[in-house]
Amino acid sequence: MTTDLALAAKEKGIRYFLISYTDLFGVQRAKLVPASAIGGMARDGAGFAGFATWLDMSPADSDLFAVPDPASLIQLPWKPEVGWLAADLWMDGKIVEQAPRTVLKKAMAAADAAGFEMKTGVECEYFLITPDGKSISDGADTADKPCYDQLILMRRYEVITEICDAMLSLGWKPYQNDHEDANGQFEMNWEYDNALVTADRQAFFKYMVKSIAEKHGLRATFMPKPFINLTGSGCHMHVSLWRGDENAFADPAGELGMSKTAYAFIAGVMAEAPALCALTNPSVNSYKRINAPVTLSGATWSPNTVTYTGNNRTHMIRIPDAGRFEFRLADGAANPYLMPASVLVAGLDGITRDLDPGKRLDINMYTEGHKAKAAKKLPLNLLDALRLLEKSTVLRAGLGAGFVDSYLKLKHDDWNAYARHLTQWERDTTLDC
Ligand SMILES: [Mg+2]
Repeated sequence: MTTDLALAAKEKGIRYFLISYTDLFGVQRAKLVPASAIGGMARDGAGFAGFATWLDMSPADSDLFAVPDPASLIQLPWKPEVGWLAADLWMDGKIVEQAPRTVLKKAMAAADAAGFEMKTGVECEYFLITPDGKSISDGADTADKPCYDQLILMRRYEVITEICDAMLSLGWKPYQNDHEDANGQFEMNWEYDNALVTADRQAFFKYMVKSIAEKHGLRATFMPKPFINLTGSGCHMHVSLWRGDENAFADPAGELGMSKTAYAFIAGVMAEAPALCALTNPSVNSYKRINAPVTLSGATWSPNTVTYTGNNRTHMIRIPDAGRFEFRLADGAANPYLMPASVLVAGLDGITRDLDPGKRLDINMYTEGHKAKAAKKLPLNLLDALRLLEKSTVLRAGLGAGFVDSYLKLKHDDWNAYARHLTQWERDTTLDC
């Protein structure tokens, strides 16, 4: 479907377009373009200096052009005179290989060549905090087990329903909202879809939640572990592969209703999981969620080991229902495009090589994890994850060498910037050495 954006502007009363892209660190960059100029921008793209964003470019590079994808158009529900557009990046007449949206499209093209379409649904947990970022916004939200707490949820009725109403108006089919396991933490769910559609929506969702929270005098954060004693924010992703209208992961005769293809995909994801962390858990802070000690609520709800299971939330991969699995590793810092791209590449490799994930584990990993002796451990920090990504031939081949090299370069710089910080913990424990 092609959309004439100038015509869409007239019909929908759009005065401005945000031509937007997500860079390698997940930051959304945009130009605000008046509707009168959208014809040329839709054809040639909006110009940016690539070096000024996280894309591993040089100040000497030519202009970067963000060419909007008309199919991604979303009218801001809280400001309908603005139309948001996800864009693909071009430079010197060539697609920018390391742009996250391009990386996902490349992985989806490989899936398409094998006859598959990936569908995903994401559960983006977030905290509502004070504008200064120092504490959760509701001082009375202090219960040890605040999950699904009706009273606390309803104190945030205005902001939660504004976001949910927005998703309803956009046709995303949202179906539930709740207070999550940490004080100050919420989650909202909408229907799964084609992985690129979901990725664009997730990028927009993060922007929308932050914007609507600000309108209400609050601040929203998707930081994986903003408070050390509370459960962190995951971004659980539900994954299935389809052949047209047929779910290729479903098989009524298979174990837990899952097909051989599904198990091979899961095995591929498990084989690459430690290296995948560099993309699904991309921040220094991410490792304080997946390797966390037990939190105030009694569980971290995040894995530290590479295992899969049936309907049991203590594992990295859960099969809650026939025909899909839940990938519980990724967190709120995961790039909406790189997360599905990397999982797809790993899963397709599992299918190509007909990998077997072995027998599922039905134990409680939080209390009996020590029994899973053969299971691989997830990396303990970002540097270890980056080193594993560096060694992964599967991810390099599937995501593209240009992308992997650029990503590793910027993320190593990120780690080095962190390592230059002197923490209070070091002073507390080493001052008297
Ligand atoms: Mg949740």
